[in-house]
Amino acid sequence: MANRDRTIENLITRLTRLPGIGPKTAERLAYHLLRIEADEALQLAKAIEDVRAAVKSCSRCCQLDAQDPCSICSDPAREPAMLLVVEDPREVARFEDVGYRGLYHVLQGRLSQLEGVRPEDLTTDHLLARVRSGAFTEVCLATNPDLEGEGTARVLAERLTPLGVKVTRLARGLPAGASIAQVSRSILADAIEGRRTLS
Ligand SMILES: [Zn+2]
Repeated sequence: MANRDRTIENLITRLTRLPGIGPKTAERLAYHLLRIEADEALQLAKAIEDVRAAVKSCSRCCQLDAQDPCSICSDPAREPAMLLVVEDPREVARFEDVGYRGLYHVLQGRLSQLEGVRPEDLTTDHLLARVRSGAFTEVCLATNPDLEGEGTARVLAERLTPLGVKVTRLARGLPAGASIAQVSRSILADAIEGRRTLS
């Protein structure tokens, strides 16, 4: 918009880059931040600064945590031979919530022809190296039950199977097209419990 202060315009532009935030919402948020107490607005900036400074990608499983190795990788009570492969760090919390007690590998995305995401754009090589080390007896591919998640699982299964590990997939009970972030606890717990062998 013409004549709007440059710093406000900059904030709106940056907010627009966030997922799910269109120009109208960005504008509303920017003016909201200007209207509330300055201290409250700055607490948000501080929270972003703090989380970026503290949280890193775990060098073993690639999930986000304040310590490296993360609290899960360094927990001796976990089942060390079981590996659950997820797309996104947020999904770790979902599986923790339903009582999964093995280890994780976070792909940091999924393969997508449409978006040009290839295996080398994900943490695939790191996953293969972990499995090749012989530390795991089972790798469960817990990518989302949608087109790209299934495609990702298929490609990973092809690469993992020759490594002599049991490769499994979440049970078909998950509604097709559903996202792991949204299904109920009971469905997710059943999906792990009833996982099927791919190799
Ligand atoms: Zn970790």
